[in-house]
Amino acid sequence: MYEGRTIARTILPVKLGQEITAVVDDIRIDGMGIVHVTEHYPLYIADAIPNEKIRLCVTQVDKFSGYAKVIERIVSSDARQNNHRQYLIEAGTAPLVNLKYEAQLVLKQKQIQKLFAKQGLTVTVAPTVGMRKPTYYRNKTIVPVKWQNEKLTSGFYRRGSHELVPMTDYFVNDQAIDQAIVIVRDILEKYQISAFDPDTQQGAIRYIMVRRGYYSHELMVVLVSDVPTLPNESEIVNEIHTQLPELKSLRLNYSPKREYVLLSPNNRTLWGEDAIHDTLLGYDFIIGPNSFYQVNPQMTEILYDLAAQKAELQANDIVIDAYSGIGTIGISVANRVKKVIGVEVVPGAVADAQLNLVNNQITNATYILADAPEQFKRWQQERLKPDVVFVDPPRRGLTAELIEATVDMGPNRFVYISCNPVTLARDAVEIIRRGYHIDGSILPVDQFPQTSHVESITVFRKD
Ligand code: SAH
Repeated sequence: MYEGRTIARTILPVKLGQEITAVVDDIRIDGMGIVHVTEHYPLYIADAIPNEKIRLCVTQVDKFSGYAKVIERIVSSDARQNNHRQYLIEAGTAPLVNLKYEAQLVLKQKQIQKLFAKQGLTVTVAPTVGMRKPTYYRNKTIVPVKWQNEKLTSGFYRRGSHELVPMTDYFVNDQAIDQAIVIVRDILEKYQISAFDPDTQQGAIRYIMVRRGYYSHELMVVLVSDVPTLPNESEIVNEIHTQLPELKSLRLNYSPKREYVLLSPNNRTLWGEDAIHDTLLGYDFIIGPNSFYQVNPQMTEILYDLAAQKAELQANDIVIDAYSGIGTIGISVANRVKKVIGVEVVPGAVADAQLNLVNNQITNATYILADAPEQFKRWQQERLKPDVVFVDPPRRGLTAELIEATVDMGPNRFVYISCNPVTLARDAVEIIRRGYHIDGSILPVDQFPQTSHVESITVFRKD
């Protein structure tokens, strides 16, 4: 036994460059296919679908797992569709593009089931609610730019390299957004504006971000820059707003690479308004450059509707909207309940939420700028007694403190909207242990077609 373990630790079951014929036996949460070389040694392979027989070549060997690439597909899966969009797989922006949409929906349902089973929880997961036309749906994108061969290129960085691969059809973005990126890029090229180069760590423009209202068609362009002002700024601004008739807001986000991964909070309006508007479920929302806003507006309306239905809201309910962004969930249910209290940590988003209350004539809601776990603790100490708590946290999920405070406040319904089933399943164990049960089934709603992201609604009820 001991000897076996030592051997397993020192001798790996595959070698770099080795070629193997195997059947893909599973798919990982990020959409990569899995071949188990031994029970405990998986190889991860892009664009490999379960049950496909492939010839693979090992490209990376780590201690407990490795990576490989497909060199020949001997037997293809029935679930495969060939969209001739291999570049999206390489870019990692649409890793499931070669999987038929019906199969993508089943995959997401099964993934939730599997993650709960791993936590020892038997649950029912409903079939994933899919999108009628699962392409060109995103209302926002942010893309890097780089000078290559005397051309300003927009696209994606090849994994693990500084080579920017040009891309103009992202397949998942609103096509008006893809067009706007190219127009802005070409104007920057015309004025020979420098772009941030990862090799030299020098240059001005880091990213172009574009957001477009699905209903309003209002367009926001944000130039994310390593420098506070651009040469020829007024000429550039003029050309951008002339060539983009839908433009409502053009901003420069001064975001030095050494300090920020993507956007900084430092925005300067170059032209037009500071923010754009769009509607969701008939409510008007102002959306600033730093505010989170759901990227798939068509499916967001379905998500919110289903979450509100599953929450069985009553006219007398006191409702918490936690991780509220610009207040979209709270505002869309406020008219059906007694009171909504929201909490969000990004100052710009809370400011937007407050404007959104006024613009929608909502008088029974307030939004608080705070860290959600800390605010829950304060509410717990103030003996707040909410009837319904909505949480919609980022991928890392909830904290033990927030769960403890929630359970102590004792809402009858605890509605968990999750964009990461791994942390959802982890948190569910804790919530159930503390006296709640899952009401009905977990409902996946596909907010991210062609990608491996899984959004879902779970309602926990007090035992
Ligand atoms: N419910 C909103 C936003 C969901 S995204 C919607 O549907 O649009 C998650 C939000 O949580 C983001 O707005 C993010 O800024 C916020 N957030 C992240 N960490 C937080 C924390 N510790 N406390 C409060 N809000 C947080």
